[in-house]
Amino acid sequence: MAAHKESVFSAMLEEFDAAAHILNLEPGIWKILTHPKRQITVSCPIQMDNGEIEVFTGYRVQYNITLGPAKGGIRFHPSVSLDEVTALAAWMTWKCAVAHIPFGGGKGGVICDPTKMSQREIEALTRRYVAEIIDAIGPEKDVPAPDVNTNEQTMAWIMDTYSMHVGHTTTSVVTGKPVELGGSLGRREATGRGVMIATRESCKHLGMDLQKTRIAVQGFGNVGGISALLLAEQGARIVAVTDWKGGVYNEKGLDVQNLFEYVQQNRTVAGFTGGDPLASDKLWGLDVDVLIPAALENQITMTNAAEIKARIIIEGANGPTTPDANDHLHSRGIFVVPDILANSSGVTTSYFEWVQDRYGYFWTEAEVNQRLEAKMCEAFDAVLKTSLKYKVDMRTAAYIVAINRVAIVTRMRGMYA
Ligand code: NAD
Repeated sequence: MAAHKESVFSAMLEEFDAAAHILNLEPGIWKILTHPKRQITVSCPIQMDNGEIEVFTGYRVQYNITLGPAKGGIRFHPSVSLDEVTALAAWMTWKCAVAHIPFGGGKGGVICDPTKMSQREIEALTRRYVAEIIDAIGPEKDVPAPDVNTNEQTMAWIMDTYSMHVGHTTTSVVTGKPVELGGSLGRREATGRGVMIATRESCKHLGMDLQKTRIAVQGFGNVGGISALLLAEQGARIVAVTDWKGGVYNEKGLDVQNLFEYVQQNRTVAGFTGGDPLASDKLWGLDVDVLIPAALENQITMTNAAEIKARIIIEGANGPTTPDANDHLHSRGIFVVPDILANSSGVTTSYFEWVQDRYGYFWTEAEVNQRLEAKMCEAFDAVLKTSLKYKVDMRTAAYIVAINRVAIVTRMRGMYA
């Protein structure tokens, strides 16, 4: 349909096309959904600490805003490009639609290396970037969030800069803020909680007893660590964890709470005495029931996919499986819950943060978790039913659900011209 170039965006289009074919999407809607609504490029001049002026290039892409304001993070990284930001904005469109929240998809990025910048320089760059894109963002328009190398502090600066420009405090312009500044309780744990729910629901579907499952997790950060903790609380056995430095294995199950305390002091799971050392690349071939990649993209590839013995893979990370490895896993009947479903609880709780900010009334953590449970189960059910209906894998099914939801509203709204 569209002219696909070699790029991150073309990888997104391949996944889109596969689902759109099955849906028999009409050519007009196909064209609309494969083009970004708006791509903004800005130059941000900053006076550096040494007195010199540097000019940084920043982007904000609003891929599709049919369902509501654009939603998506801002990353600060030397490798940021317009192609990548556009692809990430498209993926946010599909993730928000799968999660069934009233948001479109957006993403932002600034080409910079924050590891070589002072806090003052990063703050100045953040504020100037916001000033440059200020007409395009806002609670009704586009709501940024943290991504690679941006955090709660960055969101506080964005909220403050925006509020100074409009003349009043506007907490709902960003999510992922500190709780004191209008952030939501439960946000930090939300993605791991969603991964736990996806694992539990997958076991239910496949007739497996969660309490008897052996689980291996790659990554022990926000997503991997919380997923492991919550799954252990549900009675599952976390037998292996790896991270940037190494891994640890215990056939009887690791004491995840103790591992947490160890990682807080040592910044790695390597060396934890509650199990045996495990080389990172040995994780994939372990005799486990569930594998949770929760670290980086492109981890399950054709070099390790054949080793995998797990019955279920839950993609906590974004893009951990390459397309050819995904086909291989599917051909072997391995049940893969794709990233746009498995880690969508992060953006669902960002939606809850936006709702609470606009409402000016804040929920307890128990209320947040209860609503998250309902939304995650609804999303999982919709994708599973679609996968059974069309006899496709869960990734294609998630795209079908997402594209269909955006397409229905696009048709109903009609063409403004
Ligand atoms: P994090 O920085 O908190 O943790 C990352 C973990 O990966 C760390 O334990 C780190 O040691 C490990 N790691 C790094 N390099 C590794 C390597 N080469 N091999 C093995 N492990 C390695 O990050 P996070 O927030 O947990 O995010 C993890 C993934 O989940 C990313 O793909 C992110 O985009 C995705 N994600 C996160 C959220 C969220 O709410 N945090 C939401 C959606 C998706």
